[in-house]
Amino acid sequence: MRLKDKVAIITGAANGLGFEASRIFAQEGAKVAMVDYDAKTGEERAAQLKEEGGDVAFFQVNVADRDSVDAMVEEVVKHYSKIDILINNAGITRDGMLTKLSVENFQAVINVNLTGVFHCTQAVVPHMIAQGKGKIISTSSVSGVYGNVGQTNYAATKAGVVGMTKTWAKELGRKGINVNAVAPGFIETDMVKAMPDKIIDQMKSTIPLQRLGQPSDIGYAYLYLASDESNYINGTTLHVDGGIMM
Ligand code: NAD
Repeated sequence: MRLKDKVAIITGAANGLGFEASRIFAQEGAKVAMVDYDAKTGEERAAQLKEEGGDVAFFQVNVADRDSVDAMVEEVVKHYSKIDILINNAGITRDGMLTKLSVENFQAVINVNLTGVFHCTQAVVPHMIAQGKGKIISTSSVSGVYGNVGQTNYAATKAGVVGMTKTWAKELGRKGINVNAVAPGFIETDMVKAMPDKIIDQMKSTIPLQRLGQPSDIGYAYLYLASDESNYINGTTLHVDGGIMM
């Protein structure tokens, strides 16, 4: 078991990549605080993982709201006594071409994908500093590395995650905390599955491996960066995209 007795907070754990990561982390022996805005789905999914034998608990949070994040971290520490790993996975899109993108939709994505990562990281770091170790992994995207039509707001946040990761790697390395990011490519989540076959085929043709990624491909990348196997990796962004970015 690669995460035996480690306590991990995974944001955006009710759906998609965060849920798959919660399952993988639980199977690897972690105690998983599944946190999400969507309490109904989050509770259901946590119950599902408990039935599978996982030590998981659901906590509601709005990562864009500092008070909500502080309350969640306090609850998690009360429940599990410590925090070893933070996976900043929660994220949203509000796509629109630059000429049409509203300020509200620009700001909404900044609030969750960028400020949310800042809030969660700042709230857990004192607990990691106190124990002299910790692992922080945040979710970027190919969109943040090479831009994407219609994603001014999203690309800005995902590039911002890379900048914050490198800064925190420098600030926190001496405290025993590793800070890294994962940049997923096109992953076969429900949103992608709903797209027309023609669009999916076009996406695949741009990927050297010629296939979409699976949610578990990202879960295993989170797992590696959260485990002791990556103790000398700090400040990196791991591209998990079938070779789109190189
Ligand atoms: P998803 O929409 O399936 O899940 C995101 C989760 O975040 C949801 O459960 C949602 O309720 C939660 N969330 C949204 N706003 C929140 C808030 N304010 N507070 C707390 N929770 C909130 O998305 P996904 O496809 O699983 O993506 C997960 C991460 O991976 C995101 O950061 C996304 O940008 C990134 N990503 C995904 C892909 C992909 O192909 N799916 C590609 C690149 C990057």
